[in-house]
Amino acid sequence: MRDFIFTSHPQRVVFGAGSLQHLAREIDALGAKRALVLSTPGQVAQAEHVAGLLGAQAAGIFARAVMHVPIETAREAREVARRLGADCAVAIGGGSTTGLGKAIALDSGLPILAIPTTYAGSEMTPIYGLTEAGLKKTGKDPRVLPRTVIYDPELSRALPVGLSVTSGINAIAHAAEGLYAQDSNPVTDLMAQEGIAALVRALPAIRRSPADLEARADALYGAWLCGSVLGSVGMALHHKLCHTLGGSFNLPHAEVHTVVLPHALAFNAAAAPEAMQRIARVIGASSAPQGLFDLARDNGAPVALKDIGMRAADLDRAADLAVLNPYWNPRPFGASERDAIRALLQRAFDGDPPR
Ligand code: NAD
Repeated sequence: MRDFIFTSHPQRVVFGAGSLQHLAREIDALGAKRALVLSTPGQVAQAEHVAGLLGAQAAGIFARAVMHVPIETAREAREVARRLGADCAVAIGGGSTTGLGKAIALDSGLPILAIPTTYAGSEMTPIYGLTEAGLKKTGKDPRVLPRTVIYDPELSRALPVGLSVTSGINAIAHAAEGLYAQDSNPVTDLMAQEGIAALVRALPAIRRSPADLEARADALYGAWLCGSVLGSVGMALHHKLCHTLGGSFNLPHAEVHTVVLPHALAFNAAAAPEAMQRIARVIGASSAPQGLFDLARDNGAPVALKDIGMRAADLDRAADLAVLNPYWNPRPFGASERDAIRALLQRAFDGDPPR
């Protein structure tokens, strides 16, 4: 048995189809009385439903969450929370909405109750992101960790199939990198393998039948586990590449993760053989990178950066940026690996199989 450190986060998770009905009880348990409900403009109907369930416990709705949490939106939402006298925030949606809740909590310490409707996993992490003057800054603060998370698979039934598949692979990416993290431990290893297994089961079933509640529950269960891994251990090359491509070239979050993951794993394969064997075993493939490439392609997800808005002319700059301030990785990727990273990006751009 290896030595390890495991830190658990103080969070309450309520899981199950129909569990949104317990919202008022959960707000009481937080000791809150006036909740500001957050969503994107596209999910305002769900926000209104939530406010309706809360009745007098709802302070109001702020339905202007957008990707990457622009500082202006965060300031506006903080001001609305102050003006309405909110004593907690309820974030219903994906990582963008949870991220807005985190921006409010960072400033005010208001507790967040998150109701995730994608598989991105932000609700399980103390990591926040804010975009100011075009630059996305991320940080860690225990204040932004949602205190309560309600996972209700009924709410993700409306998540379009394409986003369900890419968001699910986004979750798998957290677990995959968790398995070779420098600070991994036996508990996060278990969560990572179980999380990948649940998602690999769920995604083809969701594709066949998007309203299949069992499959939606499996996927959300996997997202919880993979998000917990993301919140517990350090991420490596894959997350650095996605952060660079998403942040500097404005590519869509879940799709970038889907395209890059097989290539990042191929880059790390020789340096992390045990993690690769575990991933391959769980997904039932002979190779982890190829197995994940097939999972994406066979479920209709994009496998090429050129198909999700990347320009060939930006690949050189992307490689330069990716090797600046590299994260810890089982195979170091500083300036001396710049050409190998450039080659990786080319394969991801073209949609070639990983190698
Ligand atoms: P998102 O939150 O941007 O959602 C994408 C779109 O799908 C939005 O328009 C949203 O309203 C819609 N949507 C979400 N759920 C839906 C549903 N059930 N039915 C219909 N439409 C639905 O996408 P995301 O991938 O969940 O989150 C991406 C963002 O989260 C990025 O900015 C990323 O950096 C951040 N993130 C942060 C962390 C963290 O730990 N801080 C972790 C993961 C992601």
